[in-house]
Amino acid sequence: MIEIAKKDRIFLSPPHLSGNEMKYMQEAIDTNWIAPLGPNVDAFEVEIASYVGAKGAVAVSSGTAAIHLALSLLEIKTGDIVFCSSLTFVASANPILYQGAEPVFIDSEPETWNMSPQALAKAFEEAAFAGILPKAVIIVHLYGQSAKMDEITSICNQYDVPIIEDAAESIGSSYKGKQSGSLGKLGVFSFNGNKIITTSGGGMLVSNDTVALQKARFLATQSKDPAPHYQHSKVGFNYRMSNILAGMGRAQLEVLEERIISRRSIFLRYYQELSHMPGIHFMPELKNTMSNRWLTALTIDESKTGVSTDVLLQALVKANIEARPVWKPLHLQPLFKGMKYFPHQEHLNVSEQLFMTGICLPSGSNMTEENLMRVIDCIKDELNQRV
Ligand SMILES: *Cc1c(COP(=O)(O)O)cnc(C)c1O
Repeated sequence: MIEIAKKDRIFLSPPHLSGNEMKYMQEAIDTNWIAPLGPNVDAFEVEIASYVGAKGAVAVSSGTAAIHLALSLLEIKTGDIVFCSSLTFVASANPILYQGAEPVFIDSEPETWNMSPQALAKAFEEAAFAGILPKAVIIVHLYGQSAKMDEITSICNQYDVPIIEDAAESIGSSYKGKQSGSLGKLGVFSFNGNKIITTSGGGMLVSNDTVALQKARFLATQSKDPAPHYQHSKVGFNYRMSNILAGMGRAQLEVLEERIISRRSIFLRYYQELSHMPGIHFMPELKNTMSNRWLTALTIDESKTGVSTDVLLQALVKANIEARPVWKPLHLQPLFKGMKYFPHQEHLNVSEQLFMTGICLPSGSNMTEENLMRVIDCIKDELNQRV
């Protein structure tokens, strides 16, 4: 009997260590700084703030925690409304529910796949008419691509509503020369294991509002009042990052630029090999923006390819390749059933179309050339385009 060795699994976005992580982590161990907080945390915060050009940063246990802190800082509570991108991971909106507030979902537009300024304007008009404006707008920069921030900011400013940037997927990306995460009142990064740089689990809140950041530190450490005994007058959280993991983050930040170059060149290879095929469209990159291309995403027009997204995904799974549909829009999630939603245009739901036709391809910065070709060949085979 011939054993056919199963080809190694190709992951969507596995961690990619630099080799320098142990230096900082060992330092924490040698000095017995095995705690949330410590010198690595302080240094990591300063380094991230300086990288994005913000006045400060607070390292926390996850991106979700950072979003939750952002909403807490804006004093969002029961009965409040928060506008949020629909095409995103559930973590963008879960903290709205933690606060007892109500999300209203905003559709995408085709040029960035991110929040449609048109739909946002409509949502604001209706909210103003009803006399209940949102307390914040959460903008996501999907897969590294910046949303149309000038248009969005101008609408939000008109109503004096702050922007929280969910830049969990877009660290290192830029919009008109400005770093992702530095464009709103508060910015959020994630260092989860699947992100472009990782601390295995972790997040960061960044802002130019140092008073708000000081308050975030307070909230994230159980809201401990300044007193010799343990005194608390406000509800708090245990959200700070561990000093060991912050060490990993510092080493990862050192290679962020390299990781962006790798991810962008992986995108380019996919693009060169597949974009000529009829019915294949890659996620665009808006003029004057630079995407870190965290994940390469494309859409398939079944009427031209003859193959549906599902069939292609199945073929990739069979070849032991991890690929995923684009995020399922939150307004379609059972969790958010009955929540309000504003489409890009009447009868044009861009996020729903992207969900039905979109695929994310393996994009890890440590993917080998051989594995990249395996993915490309698998897609070509399935679409009968291999020559
Ligand atoms: C990963 C991610 C988050 C959550 O980050 P965690 O660190 O996993 O909590 C939030 N929003 C988006 C868009 C994400 O991709």
